[in-house]
Amino acid sequence: MKEQMQLTQRIDEIFESLKFAKMNKSRFETFIEQQTDPYIILLAYYILSKSNEAQAYPAILKVLQYAENPAGMTEVEEEALAETLAPISESDMLAKQIISISKAIKENFEGKVPNTKDNLLKITEIDDNTADLTVAKCFDKTKIYVDEKIQRVFNRIGIIKTNTPKETEVQLSRIIPAKYHSDINTKMQLLAKTFCAKEKPLCPFCPLNYYCDFSD
Ligand code: SF4
Repeated sequence: MKEQMQLTQRIDEIFESLKFAKMNKSRFETFIEQQTDPYIILLAYYILSKSNEAQAYPAILKVLQYAENPAGMTEVEEEALAETLAPISESDMLAKQIISISKAIKENFEGKVPNTKDNLLKITEIDDNTADLTVAKCFDKTKIYVDEKIQRVFNRIGIIKTNTPKETEVQLSRIIPAKYHSDINTKMQLLAKTFCAKEKPLCPFCPLNYYCDFSD
């Protein structure tokens, strides 16, 4: 059945199934979903890059109590911010970096988060991952964010065969219609996290079981 199914039909049905899949979002994911301000989203992803979702969620809420824009954040005392971030290791460094990122946005980008990866990477502290996530969430709804989970899930389903995230991004951009790209960054991410672990994936419970080559 899977072999016979046309690729385009298979892709449509995969994304249709995702619509009805029951998956629990973390509080961090829900927070990100509700945000529209690129500065808040960038800071949240940056804090996540230095911690995990359980730590990043309360941390971003506390940081926002000090300031919600780059100009305001440059006025915040580094020590106070570090204390707030204390559950995260190397909180002193993280506080310094948050203030430095805010200063760069204020001084070099007229207070607005740059809307391209190239410009985001001009801010010394910003890494590839944080830049990709921010661009995909805030500025380019057709951009597919590929990490290890997305690479694994699509290779297991069997609609691509790739070895690197870059290759995956190129292939997915080619074969998946643009209308589904943001679903890859949100629903497929969640599905991969919920069911498609590297070891012992929960295939019998996975909503994509019927379409997935791995679960034969
Ligand atoms: S059926 Fe299994 S291998 Fe396929 S996507 Fe779901 S969890 Fe992953």
